[in-house]
Amino acid sequence: MENKILVIAEHRAQEIREVTWELVSGVGKLAEDLSMELEGVILGHNCEELVEDLAESVIKLYHVEDEDLAFYTWESYLHALMPLIEEVNPLMVVMGHTTMGMDLGPRLAAAMNSPYMPDCINFTFDGDDLIVTRELFGGKLKSELKVAKGERYCVTLRPGIFDPEKVKRGGKDIEKTTPQLDKESFVTQFLGLLEPPEEGVDITKSDIVIGVGRGIGDRDKLKVVEELAEVTGGVLAATRPVIDSGWLPKERQVGQSGKTVKPELYIACGISGASQHTIGMKKSGTIVAINNDPRAPIFNIAHYGIVGDLVEILPAITSRIRSVR
Ligand SMILES: Cc1cc2nc3c(=O)[nH]c(=O)nc-3n(C[C@H](O)[C@H](O)[C@H](O)COP(=O)(O)OP(=O)(O)OC[C@H]3O[C@@H](n4cnc5c(N)ncnc54)[C@H](O)[C@@H]3O)c2cc1C
Repeated sequence: MENKILVIAEHRAQEIREVTWELVSGVGKLAEDLSMELEGVILGHNCEELVEDLAESVIKLYHVEDEDLAFYTWESYLHALMPLIEEVNPLMVVMGHTTMGMDLGPRLAAAMNSPYMPDCINFTFDGDDLIVTRELFGGKLKSELKVAKGERYCVTLRPGIFDPEKVKRGGKDIEKTTPQLDKESFVTQFLGLLEPPEEGVDITKSDIVIGVGRGIGDRDKLKVVEELAEVTGGVLAATRPVIDSGWLPKERQVGQSGKTVKPELYIACGISGASQHTIGMKKSGTIVAINNDPRAPIFNIAHYGIVGDLVEILPAITSRIRSVR
C-alpha cells in the first residue's frame, strides 16, 4: 500500500466544481502534515483544459478519458476507477460529500472492500489507525471515530470545510489512460443535463441577502421579509425547510445542498444555524441574526444578534430604514 491519498475530481459543463478545489487545497495540507502524497483523478471527455488546471494542485493527476465519462454516472465512474485504484494503490480515496460523492462513495467502498466514512469534516492517522471527525445534531457536537482497519479507506468530506484555494503543488505530472468499459452491460445511461429554469435572481451576486428560515411560520408572513428586502435592495434567500415547503424556489436555497453566498450583509431571520445552512453563508461580511431563542446556534456566528419575534422586529427595522431614506 502506497502512502498516498487519491482525490476524485468533480466537474460539470467544462468547469471544475468548487468542492474539488476545496479538497485539493484542504486535503493537500492534511496530507503534507501526515507526510502523505496527494494525487488526483479526473474522469471525463474532451476536458484537457481542466486537466491542465488541476494538475498544478496535486503531485500527480490521472486523466481517465472516455466519451462515456463526459458526464457522471455511478456505473461508468465505478468501472473506470476500480482498475486505476488498484494500480495507483492509495491508502485512502477521498471525494466531496456532494450528490455525486453520496452516490459513488458507498458503491466504491463496497467495490474496494474498504471501510467507508461519509460526511467527515476532518481526518488524521494515529499510527495505522484512521481517525475521522464528524458533526452531530446539526453541528452542536463533534465526534471523533476510529475507523475499522482496512487495507484502504474511502471518505467523503463535507463541502465548505476548506477554502477553495488553488495551491501550486505539482509539476503538471499527468498520466492519461483510457479505460476498458463494458458499456453493453451498463444498466444506467446518461441521457442529458437538465438545467433548472432561470429565475432571474442570482442570490450569489447580491451585496445584501435576507435569509429566511422555518421561524417565519407560514408563507403569508414572508411579506415582512420581502418588505425588508425591498427597502434594503437585498434579495431573499432561504433555508431548506422553507424551500421544501415550496414557499421559495430552489435557486434561493443557501447551504450544503444549495448555494454559497458571501454578501456584505446577511440577515438571518428565524434561522437556527444548522451547519448545513451556515456552510453556505458564514463567510458573509456582516451577519445579523434575528431569533426568538437566545441559545440558537446562529448567534455563535452572528456579528449582531436580536432576540425576539421576527414578525414584530422586521417591520420595525423596515419602517426605520424607510424613515431615514
Ligand atoms: C444532507 C442534508 C443537506 C442539507 N442541506 C441544507 C441546505 O443546503 N440548506 C439548509 O438551510 N439546510 C439544509 N439541510 C437542513 C438542515 O439540517 C436544517 O434542518 C435546516 O437548515 C434548518 O432550517 P431552519 O433554521 O429554517 O429551521 P429550524 O432549525 O426549525 O429553525 C427555526 C428557527 O427559527 C426560530 N424561530 C421560530 N419562530 C420564530 C419567530 N417568530 N421569530 C424569530 N425566530 C423564530 C427558532 O428558534 C429556530 O431557531 C440539510 C440537511 C441534510 C441532512
